[in-house]
Amino acid sequence: SDSALSQAKLRTGEAICYFESELDEFLMRDLRVANELTAALNRNEIGVHLQPKVDLKTGEVLSFEALARWTSPDLGVIPPDIFIPAAEKNGKIRLLEKSILRQVLEWMKKRVDQGLKLRQVAINISADHFFHHSFVPNLLEMTTEYGIEPKWIRLEITERIGFVDIETANKVFKHLKYCGFTASIDDFGTGYSSLSYLQKLPIEELKIDRSFISNMDEPGTLAIIRTIIQLANNLNMHAVAEGIETEKERKILLYLGCKEGQGYLFYKPMPLNEAFLL
Ligand code: C2E
Ligand code: MG
Ligand code: MG
Ligand code: MG
Repeated sequence: SDSALSQAKLRTGEAICYFESELDEFLMRDLRVANELTAALNRNEIGVHLQPKVDLKTGEVLSFEALARWTSPDLGVIPPDIFIPAAEKNGKIRLLEKSILRQVLEWMKKRVDQGLKLRQVAINISADHFFHHSFVPNLLEMTTEYGIEPKWIRLEITERIGFVDIETANKVFKHLKYCGFTASIDDFGTGYSSLSYLQKLPIEELKIDRSFISNMDEPGTLAIIRTIIQLANNLNMHAVAEGIETEKERKILLYLGCKEGQGYLFYKPMPLNEAFLL
């Protein structure tokens, strides 16, 4: 009837209003974060934490992953899941990631100067940065400036970027490898990379996304993890599991042939000076 229809319209209208105001809030927050972010970069508020990647059998630290941390005097500690997307939207992501790289290189140079063993550090790179024409030349310029060999730097590219332009991606990966850098695909299993193309990419590492590790108890998930590990082995890559929190997860991963991982079971991400002692 008429009244039912108008009631439905009313409801829909309300729903639209509701969504619009939620969206507004979302955009406002993004905008606020984006604005603050520029100032934050200038004030050097974007720091780095390092999380060790370990040998799953012995627990030995093999390398690190660099994770961006924003400590704002007004807003407190802001997690990367909020400010990285904001930086991607407002065009500041390259600046941000170059600052991360610089802090890591400084940390490495300090290790060299003090006669400590160097360790590889993986840097997360967003799509915009990865596909920018000056990405690899810039990396080379910076590593040269600090006297650090490219093999100490690994680049992690999330599979979620989709690799739409797989030919261009392949060129960048080849360029990286040619210069001596290593690369890995992050969050593997959550994106849509074509498996036939994967074998052509000159990368060494597949990182199994944390969502699979934490849902290991679901029977289908275990099959996915096993498949990723086998895929990596067959393609002459190695699999790294992220987000390992329990001894049971560690044992199952080892049993499935995964030799390397990271997670709270071993270490949480830690400030640079703490990681210096490892
Ligand atoms: P990611 O690269 O997949 O990094 C792994 C995330 O899992 C990190 O979160 C890490 O702290 C968290 N993690 C590691 N082990 C465990 C565990 O056992 N349990 C739980 N619950 N979490 C664990 P974080 O530091 O909050 O970073 C989130 C994401 O933000 C990263 O995911 C990465 O995609 C992005 N990100 C961080 N820094 C950068 C950056 O410099 N550039 C870009 N493009 N992305 C970044
Ligand atoms: Mg990563
Ligand atoms: Mg990851
Ligand atoms: Mg992940």
